[in-house]
Amino acid sequence: MNEYDSQRMAQVLQQDYRLTIAPEEADVILINTCSIRKKPENKVYSLVGRYKCLKDKKPDLIIGVGGCVAQQEGQRILERMPYVDLVFGPQAIHRLPRMLEDLSRNKTARICATPMEKDFEIPSIKGPLPDSSMVRTFVTIMQGCDNFCTYCIVPFVRGRETSRPPGAILEEIRRVVSEGIKEVTLLGQNVNSYGKKNKEFPDFAELLRLADRIDGLRRLRFTTSHPKDLSESLINCFGQLETLCEHLHLPVQSGSSRVLKRMNRRYDRTGYLTKVERLRKACPDISLTTDLIVGFPGESERDFQDTLSLLKIVEYDQIFAFKYSPRPGTRAAEFEDQIDEEEKSRRLAEVLDLQREIGSKRFKALENTVQEVLIESADQTGLKGRTRGNHVVHLKGNKNLVGKLVMIRIDKAGSHSLQGSIIPNHALQLPNK
Ligand code: SF4
Repeated sequence: MNEYDSQRMAQVLQQDYRLTIAPEEADVILINTCSIRKKPENKVYSLVGRYKCLKDKKPDLIIGVGGCVAQQEGQRILERMPYVDLVFGPQAIHRLPRMLEDLSRNKTARICATPMEKDFEIPSIKGPLPDSSMVRTFVTIMQGCDNFCTYCIVPFVRGRETSRPPGAILEEIRRVVSEGIKEVTLLGQNVNSYGKKNKEFPDFAELLRLADRIDGLRRLRFTTSHPKDLSESLINCFGQLETLCEHLHLPVQSGSSRVLKRMNRRYDRTGYLTKVERLRKACPDISLTTDLIVGFPGESERDFQDTLSLLKIVEYDQIFAFKYSPRPGTRAAEFEDQIDEEEKSRRLAEVLDLQREIGSKRFKALENTVQEVLIESADQTGLKGRTRGNHVVHLKGNKNLVGKLVMIRIDKAGSHSLQGSIIPNHALQLPNK
């Protein structure tokens, strides 16, 4: 979601500014922030602090802090860091051009824009993509969350669930496809509950079916899916829709029903595993990835062992595992049975060790198979692409293949990526960009 928001910032500003990767050249520096855990939040302050010396040399430099930390901290950022000119939340991105214009005109002004509207309408951004070499992009379909998992800050900084009208979504997909995009990821905090509040909207499975019919779109993905809302009709889309890639990120968070209950996830271990079984039946080649929290308050050794055993049963291709990090204002931060840091670190290391074994086995099984790969980029070392199962593949080849779908033989599996070679005469040519 943050990556997408950064793209939107670049898009709304491209009429008046051009992007630079050199901070010392910039007239405006915008820092997009994440508050999902404590560590990225801390990083914001040290990063912004580093830009202060640039401002000392160039007083007209505008420094802005956006994203979820901005939404959460608001005015406090301006008080703590007097060299910050602008603080803006996720709902204020489309107002950036106007706010920067005001700051350029009035050198002493400082702006804090952190609206949190209940019925916020996600604005459509019309400008072209900020980077014409992009072959895949995100399209937001909904924002916010109504679930209130007890560890999560998102509903407080992103607001309640709001779905975007289907017409605007399909129009945006058609537009990015006409600009050369081959792969679209539909984005939302909980895409599975798309349209639930709007009787006239299709449900998420139906939205996928509509997107699948768009001419020129070659690949469709979505994230993030809440397991409790993963419907039978959505499961059946895998293996039925030509563009829908065989990959699902399905955050489990814990393998213990007791912990899941305290997390307010509203599914249990059995329910989750039943859905995984259904998915594998509907689409045997599906690759699954997940998010995990270890050391949630009150997580006993037995609960933790349940998580390890779930990993062994599901065999994810990849996991994103973190130590529980109390977020101020959430219910779990108030729970008294917090786990100490050392124990959390031990559990995290154990989870990662186990997953290394499982992931290696899953990746190894891809050796000598033939995969359809979308080539995303080229550099001095070669080409980089992605399989339909979302595995990164490195290979040698002409940089003209960027943006093309090619058939690749997987020669060697690493722990996080694959190496492959193009099967001659198997390049699936696509219309030129
Ligand atoms: S469903 Fe996801 S975004 Fe919503 S509260 Fe739970 S963890 Fe946070």
